[in-house]
Amino acid sequence: MKRVVLASANSGKLRELATLLGPLGLELLSQSSLGIDSIEETASTFLENALLKARHAARSSGLPALADDSGIEVDALGGRPGVRSARFAGPGASDAANLALLLAELEGVPEPRRTARYRCVMAWVSTASDPAPLIAQGTWEGRIALAPRGSGGFGYDPAFIPAGATRTAAELSPEEKNAVSHRSLATRALVAALEAHGVYSRP
Ligand code: IMP
Repeated sequence: MKRVVLASANSGKLRELATLLGPLGLELLSQSSLGIDSIEETASTFLENALLKARHAARSSGLPALADDSGIEVDALGGRPGVRSARFAGPGASDAANLALLLAELEGVPEPRRTARYRCVMAWVSTASDPAPLIAQGTWEGRIALAPRGSGGFGYDPAFIPAGATRTAAELSPEEKNAVSHRSLATRALVAALEAHGVYSRP
């Protein structure tokens, strides 16, 4: 089994990634289980932040590392919060505070103009200085609800209604979310890239 560090401290993401990648014969270790701290996400793109996180985890562990940088882009807010989704309401803000701020900023915006998408960029590095990281991304289109609903998922899920759906992402089962989410699309694309480059082969 190939041992890989997951470079994230977000428990919602870790849970989803473990479910998506677990059956693939990769032994996934969270960076916190190895005593590795989170690195500050100082870059202005999902790609650069994913790479920063993956390189930091690989450097600290000596193992290949996988990082996901993700967020929600709201069209009526010019794409905000985007890369700043985790800290929209300030450094260390809770999911509830970020969600409340998003809904407050969209107050009075009618439903047709509440379009949004989740975006996930994943980076895999074999070593900290890997000169050719593997990159994959996925998006999930939808709109922002007028009020939050549901208790599943994490982050902005109670306010995200996937395109063509009536339930919010927080009202979907984990299996339903994992079948279509930005993270699952990115994960599938990354696994295909790992296989194509011979980094990993399916058991
Ligand atoms: P990151 O750790 O900088 O990648 O932060 C990603 C942030 O984007 C999370 O803290 C959430 O606020 C938001 N986010 C990303 N993916 C999801 C999702 O699947 N559901 C809900 N919120 C998400």
